[in-house]
Amino acid sequence: MTIDDTKKIRLVMYLRTAGISDTRVLSAMERVPRDVFVPPTFRDQAWEDTALPIGLGQTISQPLVVATMTQALKIGEKDKILEIGTGCGYQAAILARLCRRVYTIERHKPLLDVALRHLDDLKIRNVTAICADGMKGWPDQAPFDRIIVTAAAREKPPQALIDQLDIGGILVIPVGENGAQVLRLYKKESRDTFAIRDLMPVRFVPLLPDVAKPGDYAEKDLVDLAG
Ligand code: SAH
Repeated sequence: MTIDDTKKIRLVMYLRTAGISDTRVLSAMERVPRDVFVPPTFRDQAWEDTALPIGLGQTISQPLVVATMTQALKIGEKDKILEIGTGCGYQAAILARLCRRVYTIERHKPLLDVALRHLDDLKIRNVTAICADGMKGWPDQAPFDRIIVTAAAREKPPQALIDQLDIGGILVIPVGENGAQVLRLYKKESRDTFAIRDLMPVRFVPLLPDVAKPGDYAEKDLVDLAG
C-alpha cells in the first residue's frame, strides 16, 4: 500500500465519522484521485480535509464539503446535473460517477482548460463544460434534476437557476457574506414553492457575474497554471 492509499483510507474513514453514510458517495470520494486535480505544490496535502488553492485566487473545496453537498443532492443514476463553478473539475468528476451527465460552467477560461485536461486524462466522458456566466444557468439544457453551485451567493440563488430546476429537483448552494456563509438546500416542490434546509457553515469564494476577461489576469498567474 502506498502512502497515498493510507491517507485516502484515513480520509474516507473521517468522512464516515463526520456524517457521510451514502456508500455511493464514499466510493466516489475514494475512487476519484483528488491529487490529480490539485496543483503539484500542494499534492502532498491532496488527501487531507482541507481546501487548497487552484490558481487565479480560486480554491478546490474541502473534501467534507464536497461529500456533504454530493450526499445532500440524493443523485439518481439517470440525473442530469448542472454545476456552477467548475474550478479544477474535482466536484464535477465526483458527480460524473453518480449521474448520467454533468453540465458545468466556469467563468475563468484558463481554469476550465486545466479542468478539462484533468477530466480527459481520467477518461471521464459524461461532463460537458462551457466558459460562461453560471448565474444565467444553461437554458438550452434545462430543466435539470439537480443543481450545485460551488461559489457563494450573497443572499439567495440566482433566479435563472431556480427557473431551470425541474419540479422535484434539488439545488445546493452556499449563501451569505464572506466568512458567514451557510450551505443551503432548496427542494422545488412546485413551480414556485420550495422546502429550504440549512446543512452546515461553509467558506466559499463569491459567485461573480460575467465571464472573466483576459485583462483580469497577470502573466504570472497563467504561467503558474500551466505548470
Ligand atoms: N467545484 C470546484 C470549486 C471551484 S471554486 C472544484 O471542485 O474545484 C468556485 C469556482 O466558481 C471558481 O473557479 C470561480 O471562478 C467560479 N465562479 C464564480 N462565479 C461564477 C459564475 N458566475 N459562473 C461560473 N463560475 C463562477
